[in-house]
Amino acid sequence: MKKFNELEDIQQFKMIKDDLLDYRELANITSNGINYPIVGITIGTKKKNVPTFGIFAGVHGLERVGTHIAIAFLNNLTNRLRWDQELRKEFENFRIVMIPLINPAGMNEVRRSNHNGVDLMRNSPVESDHKTPLLLGGHTYSPKLPWYRGNPNKMEVETQTVVDFVKEEMFNSPFSMSIDLHSGFGMKDRLWYPYAKTKSPFPLKPEIRRMRELLDTSLPHHIYHIEQQSESYTTSGDLWDYLFDLNNDNPQKKGIFIPWTLELGSWLWVKKNPLQILSTLGMFNPVKQHRFDRVMRRHLLLFDFLIQATKNNSAWLIN
Ligand SMILES: [Zn+2]
Repeated sequence: MKKFNELEDIQQFKMIKDDLLDYRELANITSNGINYPIVGITIGTKKKNVPTFGIFAGVHGLERVGTHIAIAFLNNLTNRLRWDQELRKEFENFRIVMIPLINPAGMNEVRRSNHNGVDLMRNSPVESDHKTPLLLGGHTYSPKLPWYRGNPNKMEVETQTVVDFVKEEMFNSPFSMSIDLHSGFGMKDRLWYPYAKTKSPFPLKPEIRRMRELLDTSLPHHIYHIEQQSESYTTSGDLWDYLFDLNNDNPQKKGIFIPWTLELGSWLWVKKNPLQILSTLGMFNPVKQHRFDRVMRRHLLLFDFLIQATKNNSAWLIN
């Protein structure tokens, strides 16, 4: 199997011997004769009816920085678990679940889509009720064009793997939140909640309002612009719209599931370092080391906040 840096870094976690950590190869992708695993990692109790936080990255192969953040977080966490007994105790009633690289073939082949030319964030069976931007909103014209939806009624292996993982690892929790890491749009770091498919209000708007108040008071100088994704643009086939509805519309649902997307505003990195626009990856990733370091530090704070908000959901959720 061909290895590249990000996948190699993720595969290092297989070596960690810790009862709290579970490493699994959820599926395999073959592209150009090369086999790539999609790795899922869970940390914490084996009970699934506890508050759960999910981290997802690498849906779009060009957006390597999201996977780097996920790996940095996991490195940090596994190192702390070696000596921090208080932290270990917290995982008796809490879980973190993650897929740090959803589209390994795309990342290795330096493309946004997967190996079939499908944009995995347009691939789910969700139709926008709003006029979506041409191509960007998702289309079925040709896999040679960006934002190609593929066949939403038969999702790609990568997309289906995320769906199965989230259903199994998050839908049994009384309260779960996830964050999916992207980059490449806008000047600001945006924290998006669903929906992408419609401008109609998200059903959990009151909960979002409480979360926003909590974030504003807990991290008063935070840089995140919080909005419903459709305030930036509407799309069809958004995977998190699909998963949110799948849980929320289920009369037998076991809890609340709120999926967030962090869209890192890479245009700012390009503005500060215009030459990076000349590289394929430059539009989507911080190139200079100090900027990369700052990106890592900044978002680890956000993760910490989201984890505490997940664990302590009864303190702020509306009953
Ligand atoms: Zn993306």
